[in-house]
Amino acid sequence: MGRVTRPGVVSPEVVGLRRKHVPLRRCVVCGAQRPKAELTRIVRGAEGGLLVDAPPKAPGRGAYVCRAEACLEQAAKGRAISRALDRPVTDEAARRLRELAEPSPAGRPDAGP
Ligand SMILES: [Zn+2]
Repeated sequence: MGRVTRPGVVSPEVVGLRRKHVPLRRCVVCGAQRPKAELTRIVRGAEGGLLVDAPPKAPGRGAYVCRAEACLEQAAKGRAISRALDRPVTDEAARRLRELAEPSPAGRPDAGP
């Protein structure tokens, strides 16, 4: 068989990397875009407080921060969050952010069953 491989023709390679569309959100600290699951959501509550690590369905204006220690620490300092949500970071919210930033060997203390 005189079959010649033609190097110019490349069949489109189907790679299993692109699964379904993953919604991306931007970290307000470092600006990186990541899937929502890799970010901590901070929501501006109706009462004026901030809800740290809010569930995805929590209503309200939200900001996202990487689950990385550096980004959470920066977020706790307040500037990135207060700029994104137009609201100062409360002591309570800053404390929660620092808690999330700290690697706890026994896992998250408030992790329910
Ligand atoms: Zn970040």
